[in-house]
Amino acid sequence: MSGYDTLLGEENEKHFLLGNEAIVRGAIESGVGVAATYPGTPSSEVGDVLSKIAKKAGIYFEYSTNEIVALEVAASAAASGIRAFTFMKHVGLNVAADAFMSVGYAGTKAGLVIMTGDDPSMFSSQNEQDNRHYAEMAFIPLIEPSNPQEAKDFLIYSFDLSEKTGSAVLFRTTTRVSHQRANVTFGKKMEIKNKSHFIRDQNKFVLVPANAYVAKDKLIKRFENLKEFSENSPLNVIYGNGNEWGIITAGAAYNSVMDAINISGLKFDILKLGFSNPMPERKIINFLKDHKSVIIFEELDPFIESKVRIIAQMNNINSKIYGKMDSYVPWSYEFNPDRVLAVFSKLFNINYSISTVNQDIKLPSRPPVLCPGCPHRATFYAVKLVSKQLRLKDPIFPNDIGCYTLGIQKPYEEADYLLCMGSSIGSGCGFSKTTDQKVISFIGDSTFFHAGIPGLINAVHNGHKFVLIILDNRTTAMTGHQPNPGLPINGMREPAPEISIEEIVKAIGVRYVKTVDPYDLKSTIIAIREAVNFDGMAVVISKRECALLRDAEMIRNKKWVRYHINQEKCTRCMNCVLNFSCPAFYVDKDGAVLIDPVLCDGCGVCSQPQVCGFHAIERDEP
Ligand code: SF4
Ligand code: SF4
Repeated sequence: MSGYDTLLGEENEKHFLLGNEAIVRGAIESGVGVAATYPGTPSSEVGDVLSKIAKKAGIYFEYSTNEIVALEVAASAAASGIRAFTFMKHVGLNVAADAFMSVGYAGTKAGLVIMTGDDPSMFSSQNEQDNRHYAEMAFIPLIEPSNPQEAKDFLIYSFDLSEKTGSAVLFRTTTRVSHQRANVTFGKKMEIKNKSHFIRDQNKFVLVPANAYVAKDKLIKRFENLKEFSENSPLNVIYGNGNEWGIITAGAAYNSVMDAINISGLKFDILKLGFSNPMPERKIINFLKDHKSVIIFEELDPFIESKVRIIAQMNNINSKIYGKMDSYVPWSYEFNPDRVLAVFSKLFNINYSISTVNQDIKLPSRPPVLCPGCPHRATFYAVKLVSKQLRLKDPIFPNDIGCYTLGIQKPYEEADYLLCMGSSIGSGCGFSKTTDQKVISFIGDSTFFHAGIPGLINAVHNGHKFVLIILDNRTTAMTGHQPNPGLPINGMREPAPEISIEEIVKAIGVRYVKTVDPYDLKSTIIAIREAVNFDGMAVVISKRECALLRDAEMIRNKKWVRYHINQEKCTRCMNCVLNFSCPAFYVDKDGAVLIDPVLCDGCGVCSQPQVCGFHAIERDEP
């Protein structure tokens, strides 16, 4: 039994849930039959939970190779008559965008909901894009919950809306909605079915130009029809009545607004938009007419604000509107009550004190580091040694999305360029063509499957010459250890065919391919040296499971290995501390180098002569 079995509970039960857990319950109550994703923060927990309970719920669930495949799986299931759900982080929707735009045109048969987890303040992301623009571009309705209860209830609403209108629905959470915890009351579960019979409808589902031409017109009519749904939606609500000032808000920003109002004691009427594309135009006109001044709070871009300003202008409404476009409200980063209070203070000339965070507490900065025993550290160390041995002048290290991006930090500094998933290989092609510097790219196993393969095909076909190191740690580590196609297990923890990275690389036509164990520094260094000297595209697969998985295994088996430093042999040269830099090393007040037994994971890499030439690092006696 999984701890998440409570999500299978009955109507009227109440549970304290994470927003993403509430979304899983919403999927169960909606009768979702198929769910597919590629993991990405802040949406990962939806998949983590489904991987444990989908089978019991009767849902087919998979981790797809990437987001566009996940959307295609879901869209085709919905075209067959099965309610389908796909979820991804915000940048994942860029990967899925090609299919997403066409899904707008084709529409759906059964309910189809696409969740985007946006990440204001970029806690785990390379940018802060606001995916609400995608809904507008694709003429798809947009739903924005503010808390876990709404996350569940609005998802159910989204499936009903999708089926009533024949349109896919974009369901937007942000980090503070997905990762917020609150009590959630369960509703009735719909029957779940995950098998149907696809009925051919080529005019609708085959978007050749002649069909797409007709579909565009239908899309616009469907969107016009959606305006009435938005106008009458219970998700667009007004709180308060008769106040001079109004606030229009949506999503997580609503929570910060309510806290700031409570703290300040100011009075506003609030229009909270849960269904924000298309906008409920009549509701907005009336709200503007009823208020002399209106402030708009939303994360991130002025998506609602720009439309409200257009509505006001087109209807000759003179209410004063304050927002991001006139710089009253900050444009970047997520909201908190203090940021809202700062806006109130500008507009109402009130004093406010920063209340939510005690600014006097200065916490030491704790930059993320590779874990003790992390196989990536050994690989980065080996690359550094080879670069020194071969006297490489300014080698370029394109890096990619995963834990190994931490190679950016000292002492490794092996991350020079990073755009998005898979970019280490495409950019490796560009750098190797346009410079005389050696190029050594890094990509993880999951990222290689996700977006790396086309780049490698490009590299071989176009004759690019650089080194690609595939860091195969046997998991999708950064997002929470989800399986990927390189493992003999699928998203529902069933046995699955393992796809060999080495065979793919060879099949693409790479002539230097070597798989090494990074814990064996000597052979790893030899392979990297050969790859750097190879005249052509060279791939080294550095294969060793993530240290956290090994730790869990050791705890299960009650077999814990640790290392210590023999002080009689240690010369205090500091190579282990300064260049290998495992976090388990520390230097005491007398200058002695020690290993913290709590942190040491017993990988033994530091005991090899390539790190400690004095053989001072020894394994503890069992
Ligand atoms: S590398 Fe070896 S000799 Fe040098 S400080 Fe570390 S343990 Fe001591
Ligand atoms: S054996 Fe050495 S490198 Fe491995 S975790 Fe322990 S101290 Fe770190």
